Amino acid sequence: MLIAGNWKMFKGPAATRAFAAAFEPPAGVEVVVAPPFVSLAAAVESGLTTFAQNVHWEPEGAYTGEISAPMLLGLGVAGSLVGHSERRQYFGESDEGVARRAKAALAAGLRVIACVGETLAEREAGKTEQVLRRQVSVLEPNERLVVAYEPVWAIGTGLTATPETAQEAHAFVKSLLDAPVIYGGSVKPDNAAALMAQPDVDGALVGGASLDIESFASICTAAARSHS
Ligand code: PEP
Repeated sequence: MLIAGNWKMFKGPAATRAFAAAFEPPAGVEVVVAPPFVSLAAAVESGLTTFAQNVHWEPEGAYTGEISAPMLLGLGVAGSLVGHSERRQYFGESDEGVARRAKAALAAGLRVIACVGETLAEREAGKTEQVLRRQVSVLEPNERLVVAYEPVWAIGTGLTATPETAQEAHAFVKSLLDAPVIYGGSVKPDNAAALMAQPDVDGALVGGASLDIESFASICTAAARSHS
């Protein structure tokens, strides 16, 4: 079980240190946090297993606003998210760009959580599997790669996929790629246990609820109590 907290554009270095000082991850689950770039060093120094929220495919170069895998490794960062729907939606990231980011990060030695998932319009049009196939097929199997199934309609909306819907999508992703699949989309303390109980749900990517120590700890505990 892997529980990853995506802090998005929240928590600077001081808030990151305060979180780390008060947060006690339960035994039996791996917990990682993905703070904003400016807080990565504080998270690493505080002893948290730390992921970046994105990573570029080149080791260095004229790419204003980007950070490379060797830079992250040099800081003690363990891995990176790639392809988060907010990157795809607001910053125009494509499947091919996401694949390049994942490939370079994995080759450099980082772990990667690659995010995939359909929009509400795609689900309602019956295109969920088509979208997942398109997004997953550009990824190459790697022992350090985890896929996060994050239906876009469930991110930050309070709408959660039912455990059965998540299970169905996770099984489909696993039929395309041999990798653990974690679920993301309004995971909260009160729905975490039911989601984690599904056989193909291998953990969670948690946004909003990862910012609050009590909520995040409670989700981590639910994961620790479920199947491994
Ligand atoms: C996310 O940002 O990956 C996410 C799942 O957000 P939330 O839990 O807030 O829906």
